Amino acid sequence: MRELKDLWQIFEERFPDTGLRKGAFAAPGRVNLIGEHTDYNEGFVLPMAIDKDIIMLAQLREDQEVRVYSLDYNREVIFSLLDLEFEKEDFWANYLKGVIDELQKMDYYLPGMNIIFTGNIPIGSGLSSSAALEVVTAYTIATLNELDIQPVEMALLCQRAENNFVGVNCGIMDQYVSRLGKKGQALLIDCRSNEYELVPFANEDYQVVICNSKVERGLVDSEYNQRRAECEKAVRYFAGKLDHRILALRDVTIEELEKEAAGLGELTKRRARHVITENNRVLMAVAALRNNDLETFGQLMTESHYSLRDDYEVSCPELDLLVELALKQKGVLGARMTGAGFGGCTVNLVHKDYINDFIFNVKKAYDQETGKDMESYLTWPAAGARKLA
Ligand code: ADP
Ligand code: MG
Repeated sequence: MRELKDLWQIFEERFPDTGLRKGAFAAPGRVNLIGEHTDYNEGFVLPMAIDKDIIMLAQLREDQEVRVYSLDYNREVIFSLLDLEFEKEDFWANYLKGVIDELQKMDYYLPGMNIIFTGNIPIGSGLSSSAALEVVTAYTIATLNELDIQPVEMALLCQRAENNFVGVNCGIMDQYVSRLGKKGQALLIDCRSNEYELVPFANEDYQVVICNSKVERGLVDSEYNQRRAECEKAVRYFAGKLDHRILALRDVTIEELEKEAAGLGELTKRRARHVITENNRVLMAVAALRNNDLETFGQLMTESHYSLRDDYEVSCPELDLLVELALKQKGVLGARMTGAGFGGCTVNLVHKDYINDFIFNVKKAYDQETGKDMESYLTWPAAGARKLA
C-alpha cells in the first residue's frame, strides 16, 4: 500500500484545502478462524482482523457535497448529502452512501466532505473488504465530526448500511471485527446477544496463513438461501419435538439431534448437525486458545472443514484441494475453508519454520492441478479501525 504522505499528496492535488478538520483512518478486513454458517443460527463465531486495510483520507467541507475518489478504481463520484441514490455503476460508492444514510437516520447532521481511499484487502475473496469500507467510512465521519458513537453501535450501523442500502443480508461478524478487533486477539461473538469477548491469540512459533483459491464465489446466494431455509425447517421440527424453547439451532444439543432426528430427513439432519457441532467447536476452540493449546485448536479447524464439506456441503473442489494439500505439509496444525464457501479462501495454522515450504508446495500443486494462481497472505490478529498518525 502507498505511504500516507503520498496519499496526502494525492489528496491535496485533487482537492483545495477547505481549512476545516481533516484526518486519515484505517479499518481492516478479517478472516474467520472458526464458526461458519453459525451466525444466522444465533450461534458463535471467532474471527480476527487481518493486517490488510482500507485507508481513507478526508476533510470536511462547508457545503453538503461529498466528493469521493477511489484510487483503486481511479474514479471520482460526487453526490449531495440530501440526495443519496443507489448506483449500479461505481458500485463502491453505495457503501459510503449507505453509512451516511444510516448516520442521518440516527439524526446526525453531517457536513459535506472530500475523500480519497484505497485498500489492499483482496476484493470478493471472503476477507470482507466491504465491511472494512463501511467501517472506515463510519469511523472517519464520526471522528471528524466528533460524534459520540460507541464501537458496537458503529459496527451495527455499518451492518445496517450493508443490509438496507447495499442490499446484502449479512450478519454482524464482519463489521464487529473490523471495528472491535485488537492486535494479538481473536474476537468471540455471540450472534444471539451480540455480546463479544476478546480472546488472546498469539504464539511465537505459529502463524496464520490465508490461501486464496481465486475461485469466485458463484453459487453463493441461492445456496445460502437454501441453507437458511433448511435450518429454519430444522428449528420448526425441534420446536415441535422438544419440551424446551427452540428459537434457533443454537438451542438444540447434539444429543437431542441424535435422539430425535428420525423424522427430520437425512439432508436436513446433516445441515443441523453441522451447525450444532460447529457451535461446540467454536467454544472448544476458545478454551483451547485460553490454554495456549494450538494443537487442539488446529484439529478443530480441520474438523470444521470436514463438517462444512460433508454435512453442510458449502465447500468446492478447489477449497477441498487446498485443505488436503495443506494437511500434507510439515508443521501444519489445522486447515479449513473460511467464509460462506463455494470459493474464496482457506485459513491455515502453520509453524514458522515451515511457512516458506508450505506456501511453495501448496501453491505449486494447486496451480498445477487447477490452472489457477493461488495467492497467500501471512497474518496475526491485527488492530481494528483506527486513526493513522
Ligand atoms: P468481500 O468479500 O471482499 O467483502 P463484497 O462483494 O462483499 O466482497 O465487497 C466487495 C466490494 O466492496 C467491491 O465490489 C467494492 O464495491 C467495494 N470495495 C472493496 N474494496 C475496495 C477498494 N479498495 N476500493 C473500492 N471499493 C472497494
Ligand atoms: Mg462483503
